[in-house]
Amino acid sequence: MEDKTAILVIYTGGTIGMIKDPQSGALKPFNFDNIYDQMPILKSFQYQIDFLSFDPLIDSSNMKPSFWIRLAELIGSNYERYDGFVVLHGSDTMAYTASAISFMLENLNKPVVFTGSQLPMGVIRTDGRENFLAAIEIAAAKDESMPMVPEVCIFFENQLMRANRTTKFNAEHFNAFVSGNYPLLAEVGVHIRYHRQYIMKPNFKKLKIHTSLDFNVTILKLFPGISENVVRATLGIPGLKALILETFGSGNAPTDAWFIRSLEEAIDKGLIVYNVTQCKSGSVEIGKYETSLDLGRIGVIGGYDITTESALAKLMYLIGEGYSHDKVVELLQASIRGEMTTA
Ligand code: ASP
Repeated sequence: MEDKTAILVIYTGGTIGMIKDPQSGALKPFNFDNIYDQMPILKSFQYQIDFLSFDPLIDSSNMKPSFWIRLAELIGSNYERYDGFVVLHGSDTMAYTASAISFMLENLNKPVVFTGSQLPMGVIRTDGRENFLAAIEIAAAKDESMPMVPEVCIFFENQLMRANRTTKFNAEHFNAFVSGNYPLLAEVGVHIRYHRQYIMKPNFKKLKIHTSLDFNVTILKLFPGISENVVRATLGIPGLKALILETFGSGNAPTDAWFIRSLEEAIDKGLIVYNVTQCKSGSVEIGKYETSLDLGRIGVIGGYDITTESALAKLMYLIGEGYSHDKVVELLQASIRGEMTTA
């Protein structure tokens, strides 16, 4: 019997979709209209695979939250027609986009698999082809007629990761992403080995799309020698509602009186300050060291093991939803899409 599984592939830009122009030799975006001629192997899947390309196609360094909204809406408007989605995206900001989409799609019960590549699809040693084919297979995979991976994830090289746990950490190796605080959802070798115990379970509720993001959020990365000017200028950004404070180690920061005082004044005026570690693995533990005691006292919120990418998306989403200050503070300390480990 023919497999009726339907997959929608959305190409947003990035290296993966590039091929060499036979005349000029320059890299140009792939035309997905004749993908079956260029990749006849796709026919052997026996799924219905449809393609949509963004216009314009972008290098993901030009990614904007307005684009996340378009992408979330596109998945939403095609949700009933497809069993799974593959998003081809540049790797540079993929962790940001994929994290944002995970917050914007509430009650997601189908796979949304982001992938890209380090080398364009059209070069001989490309990693794009394998990434693309495996992402389609994962998006189509079922377990007793239920989607195997009903969540937003990133597939790269041979690893499937929860999207909102990832960070791009390598600009050279094919294995470009790390999920420092959450186990892999699947590993691809001769077989695709799904680690079911780490994959979200479907909740069978109706998909809700959230597109009211609030962009009055910024990130301040601490470094030895950070000056009062830099801190005060950041806290003084007009309209700022939330600051992600990228701290050292398990959530530590300088204890200088001016530093604590300026943060305290901003928090007292209503600014949300979210403590996220600069480390790629491990968790914020406010109060573990003396250098984080004051942060806890003045009302800095601990982000446990959340990534910066996920923290940014989560804040834009929560504030955009119009929750009260107290509710935002509460939800920042809870895992709402599997983005952090609180226990
Ligand atoms: N600069 C490219 C991008 O992020 C790199 C890639 O495609 O991986 O769009």
